[in-house]
Amino acid sequence: MIIDLKQLTKDLAKLVGEKNAFSDRPTALVYAKDTMPWDVENHHMPYAVVRPADSREVSAVLAYANPRKIPVHIHGSGTSLVGLGRPKVNAIVLDTGRMQDLEIFPERGYFEVGPGMHIGKLRKALAAHNALLPVFPGSEPVATIGGSISVNSSAHAVDASLCKPGDYVLGLEVVLPSGEILRTGTESTRKPAGIEATKFLIGSEGLLCVITRIRMRLIPKPHMENIVAYYRRTEEILDTVMNMYREGVPTPLFFEYLDEMASKIGFEAVGLSPPPGAVAMVSMHSATSVGCREKARLFLDFVKKSNPIEARIVSDSQEWEKIWSSRAEAGNYVYRLGSTFGSEITPRVDKLRDAFREAKEIILNLESFQGNEFYSFGHIGAPTIHAYAFVPTKDIPNELKKAITLEVRNKTEALNIKYGGCGGEWGLTAQRAEFLEKKYGRIYKDILFRLKNAFDPQNILNRGNLEGWL
Ligand SMILES: Cc1cc2nc3c(=O)[nH]c(=O)nc-3n(C[C@H](O)[C@H](O)[C@H](O)COP(=O)(O)OP(=O)(O)OC[C@H]3O[C@@H](n4cnc5c(N)ncnc54)[C@H](O)[C@@H]3O)c2cc1C
Repeated sequence: MIIDLKQLTKDLAKLVGEKNAFSDRPTALVYAKDTMPWDVENHHMPYAVVRPADSREVSAVLAYANPRKIPVHIHGSGTSLVGLGRPKVNAIVLDTGRMQDLEIFPERGYFEVGPGMHIGKLRKALAAHNALLPVFPGSEPVATIGGSISVNSSAHAVDASLCKPGDYVLGLEVVLPSGEILRTGTESTRKPAGIEATKFLIGSEGLLCVITRIRMRLIPKPHMENIVAYYRRTEEILDTVMNMYREGVPTPLFFEYLDEMASKIGFEAVGLSPPPGAVAMVSMHSATSVGCREKARLFLDFVKKSNPIEARIVSDSQEWEKIWSSRAEAGNYVYRLGSTFGSEITPRVDKLRDAFREAKEIILNLESFQGNEFYSFGHIGAPTIHAYAFVPTKDIPNELKKAITLEVRNKTEALNIKYGGCGGEWGLTAQRAEFLEKKYGRIYKDILFRLKNAFDPQNILNRGNLEGWL
């Protein structure tokens, strides 16, 4: 397709205003790059970037692009870790950052927000109304609420404790690829039963629509108590999680871990002395402080049965802040100092230990690269195992980076098939064309394509993501 870029930029400027339509190369480069460790190639470069103010302007952009079959890539903050954030073909990038209206309606039991508001900012605004935002990505200062509902990731939260963010969404305003504006759901706190459009659109990763407004239930902010436990080996933490489900112990809001390697790095980075082994971090929540303390004491007793080196409730908020942030720091370290190839394995709970052992073997015995290190941390209570291959240099060729990405992905995804999981966060569809077919069969993939075709017959939205990347 030959596009007259000058004309395109002029036309887009008419729709969203001159200050909000860009086609210069430096801006395009910023939107072409994401967190994947590979170089930007020509076909990732946007034709133009637009920053619409509201659903009317989004509608105008899509109504312009659709009949011309010009791809449109939706950009929240672009922090997705596994390739969703990068355009797969030359496209108009639609940045949601200007749509940040927030209205809180305590008397109706919900709030409404534009997709471009950052999670951290929204959390603060809701906290002033004593409400909890049920979205906890490590990228919270910059990730948008629109991006989070589009991937429907509970991130740190244990699903069995708080469900997914989408479970709290009462309704959406979306713009369809045709430019039509659709409002779904309810203004009641009673969610509609039965077949209902909101459910298709949550987690649709920008393949079906642009989300322009989100209505979410207000959740009373709970009291929290935090527990740290030090173990000799990561496997003991896995046993604790397996026992937690087997014995029906109340599930915590957060249950994170750092393996032996990641805990040393993370603790040193936040100025704590290196722990003796692997670390578990648990946050219990409850409506009252008395109830929460009791719940935390019960959980501590349960943890102590697993014979950790030490386990205790951390009452000092500054100490907890450091312990908690060590997890993020371990992640930052591996990304900063080298090339990191991650995976997400969400096995059936009783297979957690087997899946971890096999993931470690896979990472330490890569065919595409020898000499990498193994790190693991993540939301183990969920349960999620993030098994990382870390190559301690950024200077490896693009083709090798792609080969390692593919090998890690294919071999660890095989564990999701073997042990019954399907991933629980990050927005994985762009990587998963083959996986979905292997796991659920051809019919499942066909249904996804038919759904996409029903909403987006010209395949303009996030083109390339459903087809699979790499
Ligand atoms: C340090 C770090 C820690 C992270 N921790 C976690 C974690 O714990 N768990 C986790 O799941 N992820 C995590 N992430 C990944 C990512 O930050 C989250 O998935 C986040 O929710 C994505 O938000 P975003 O605004 O950056 O979305 P983007 O990356 O911009 O978009 C995500 C997807 O949603 C689509 N999209 C965005 N906005 C809209 C919209 N309004 N309408 C329709 N489609 C839209 C995009 O096209 C894309 O396909 C982390 C990332 C970093 C860098």
